Amino acid sequence: MTNPLETRTVRVGDVLIGSGHPIVVQTMCNTHTADVAATVAQCCRLAAAGAQLIRITVPSLADVEHLRQIHDTLRSEGISVPLVADIHFSAEIAMAVVPVVEKIRINPGNFHPDHARARVLFGEFLEHCKQYDRAIRIGLNHGSLGKYIVEKYGNTPQAMALAAMEWVEMCIQAGFFNVVVSLKASNTVVMVQAYRELARLMQERGVVFPLHVGVTEAGNGDSGRIKSCVAISTLLQEGIGNTIRVSLTEDPANELPVAQYLAHRYSGAPAPSLPPREETILKAACDWGAPLLNHELDDIPLEDEYLKDEILQACRRRFYKPEYIACPGCGRTLYNLEETFNRVKEATAGFKDVVIAVMGCIVNGPGEMADADYGYVGEGAGKVTLYRKKEPVLRHIPEDEAVQKLVELIAFEDSSLRSE
Ligand code: SF4
Repeated sequence: MTNPLETRTVRVGDVLIGSGHPIVVQTMCNTHTADVAATVAQCCRLAAAGAQLIRITVPSLADVEHLRQIHDTLRSEGISVPLVADIHFSAEIAMAVVPVVEKIRINPGNFHPDHARARVLFGEFLEHCKQYDRAIRIGLNHGSLGKYIVEKYGNTPQAMALAAMEWVEMCIQAGFFNVVVSLKASNTVVMVQAYRELARLMQERGVVFPLHVGVTEAGNGDSGRIKSCVAISTLLQEGIGNTIRVSLTEDPANELPVAQYLAHRYSGAPAPSLPPREETILKAACDWGAPLLNHELDDIPLEDEYLKDEILQACRRRFYKPEYIACPGCGRTLYNLEETFNRVKEATAGFKDVVIAVMGCIVNGPGEMADADYGYVGEGAGKVTLYRKKEPVLRHIPEDEAVQKLVELIAFEDSSLRSE
């Protein structure tokens, strides 16, 4: 392992994030924020399972009050795990949650369609955070970059890092240093390159904020765990990464042992107790991820063919089945994501060379599908929109017909391609 990238330390409640501290493990609730009792119960369960930070989505202004109730109830029950508000698109909601929780995750580029206005709003937001002594995460995802940056640099890892640097620079100029940055992607190659580039640019600038590292929309089961481990471990071995989230389309409690395994392996945090098969899978993904992603190896000497196929595909070196992207779900999720994702996987397993996304909501889903060929996106009220690339092609499909329609759509295009 190389020397860790030296970063500043960020304080979130009592939790310290930075190169001088063990890797902090975090997760996110998938309950509806308006369901205060269910969210409190899930937070209690996640805290007991070792979550050091818990993120909760705030889809509307009304949910700011729900978040306040969740926060106050947890504190009154003696649970001190800091909460992170997850904000998308709304500077107004971002401002409103500052007095409520310890940390706020935002993508300032989405504060306003007009970039100059987004900068003004972000400046005001920073002053507000300073006043309340809050921490923030500047969270940019591949696929949700502002139009201005994509037009300038394309949808590339370099564009992601440069976009982040603009907001990093604004924080430095404002004298606000309680900042963590993330550049997630579901494509492991893009994700690793983006973080490396950002680390380099911050070093060059002389101010290095801690990095929140994760693979977004990694999916579930072995594939989700392997995808997360190959990419996160590659960066942690290089000393890049101070807090991690392993996003799985499963119960968020399942994310914690995987993240704890990584935190233990790369920063000496306490080891989780894992079933032997899961430990074998995580170990192999961490052992072989970096050499494959770095193109130091083209193949790996594993006798377990299934595990070998999964690791090679996670590193995008060989594709033996469709590539799946699925968001982990959150308070915005509009249907039973986990069950639907499993049905989609089962129904589409026979296709090759195709990227299929299953996303929980129409607000962020389409933007975050990144390079998916087809997308299944929940609209709400039992309806689904199917996408081809970024275009909605079938809208308002009843949920019980949507998986079949998705299969027909892929099969139709697949046969047209073959007959060309
Ligand atoms: S895409 Fe999924 S995780 Fe992202 S905001 Fe929508 S439901 Fe939540």
